[in-house]
Amino acid sequence: MNQSQIDSKLAKIKSWYEINHPLCIFCGHRVGKDGQLAHLVRRSETRSEMQVNKLNTGLAHPSCHEIFDNDRIGTIFLPRFYEVMYIIYLLDPEYFMRISSYYPDHADLFDRFPDLPFKNIKHHGQLLHLGQYIKESR
Ligand SMILES: [Zn+2]
Repeated sequence: MNQSQIDSKLAKIKSWYEINHPLCIFCGHRVGKDGQLAHLVRRSETRSEMQVNKLNTGLAHPSCHEIFDNDRIGTIFLPRFYEVMYIIYLLDPEYFMRISSYYPDHADLFDRFPDLPFKNIKHHGQLLHLGQYIKESR
């Protein structure tokens, strides 16, 4: 896949989310015209197929996107932190192992990811309530 094929696929995914699930992948609130398409597994860390995997992307507020990309501590306080980490776990377990080690205080929650029933999800809108599920059964 060349760069222009990737860009055109990403533009299609972005408009799919704008129509079907116009919520920020990081905080869950509605995204407006300034919404960006964010990647969970970083683009620099992965092959082109993962860059255009719908589950690896979602709309985001520019401010939430900035926190996720550049602020490791701030990321913990993003309301959908667990959902985001769980999606990363599903997409790329090795990458997940690496970045989950940044958050040792959450290791007991991450250890439960293999037991969660949500394995065949296609986009992050299917996981709106995962954080609550995990906390209630902690
Ligand atoms: Zn947001």
